Amino acid sequence: MNANSEFGTLINILENEHVIDKAGLVNLLTCDDADPVYAADRIRKIFVGEDVHLRGLIEFSSYCCRTCFYCGLRAANNNIKRFRMGPEEIIECAKHAVSCGLKTIVLQSGEDKSFTINDLCKIVNRIKGMDAAVTLSIGELSKSEYTALKNAGADRYLLRIETSNEQLYESLHPGMSYKNRVRCLYDLKELGYETGTCCLIGLPGQTPEMLADDLLFFKELDADMIGMGPFIPCAGTPLELQDGGDVGAVLKMMALARLLMPDINIPATTALGIKDSGGYKKGLGCGANVIMPNMGRSEYKKLYAIYPGKGEGITNLENQIEAIKSTVFKLGRSIGRDYGNRKRLIDNHY
Ligand code: SAM
Ligand code: SF4
Repeated sequence: MNANSEFGTLINILENEHVIDKAGLVNLLTCDDADPVYAADRIRKIFVGEDVHLRGLIEFSSYCCRTCFYCGLRAANNNIKRFRMGPEEIIECAKHAVSCGLKTIVLQSGEDKSFTINDLCKIVNRIKGMDAAVTLSIGELSKSEYTALKNAGADRYLLRIETSNEQLYESLHPGMSYKNRVRCLYDLKELGYETGTCCLIGLPGQTPEMLADDLLFFKELDADMIGMGPFIPCAGTPLELQDGGDVGAVLKMMALARLLMPDINIPATTALGIKDSGGYKKGLGCGANVIMPNMGRSEYKKLYAIYPGKGEGITNLENQIEAIKSTVFKLGRSIGRDYGNRKRLIDNHY
């Protein structure tokens, strides 16, 4: 409901022209009466259609040299058991995912330096041979490393900016620099990766103004994929006692992202599904067109403990996919049969 005509006007302009300034975004983010969801669903239908693309996620190592304040895999967390899959195990999981009909494999890990770029290139290359698109989510690398992985066949890369506020970013990422994070994202774009990014919603110290800046940052970058997730406090991290992100705020950010960047891919994230049992369904109603079923081995899923609840309840991979398909079909939507690349329909860039 947009009872207040000021919000109605802002949302109309967003729906028709896909532009808004920071003050307008802050207005929409801070007022409960502002509801961009119906407009986002209409725009999703027009620009990306009814297809929901399934991407098979394989979390292949929980070792990480970083110490991000929110993440259970941070190097300083000695309370978790770590795992690292071997190349053949990764390939087996990818084969299984492809045999289940998935057309994209997403390889994700902590920043685990025991995999060389050459090792990773070989894995990417073998998965490409299975007729699947490959997405990587393995953190910050040099431009030459990103280039080698692209040359090996990688199609997409996920690297969240987490927050576009430099001060907040650096307060949560000891030893990391905001400028380098931004450098990575622009390198990925320049190298031709479909580039996914996003923010964590509900981080301590985050304001609506910062979230508005995040959305404008994504548009400026011309991100190809935006995966909004709530921050979920995790034991063994400096933020374990903080409040987590709010599902309503995540859904509103997803809807605003769809209105600002109509033809991008937007997943209903795992974290959204964990915070709310109806999270996938709600996300699909707020502009999402991607879901990433976890196709790793069941014994590792819980060990990839970035936040509590990860990997719980997933026993059988086929059942997991069927449950997702059933949610999608009940909404009158369909499952994408192609790679689900971004189909650029307008110039999203300023
Ligand atoms: N290491 C790579 C990186 O940081 O880009 C990829 C793996 S990392 C686990 C993937 C994402 O998990 C991060 O970008 C972060 O947003 C998310 N994450 C980590 N801890 C989280 C938490 N406590 N709540 C929600 N999301 C979290
Ligand atoms: Fe490592 Fe990524 Fe977790 Fe940071 S968010 S500690 S880089 S796994």
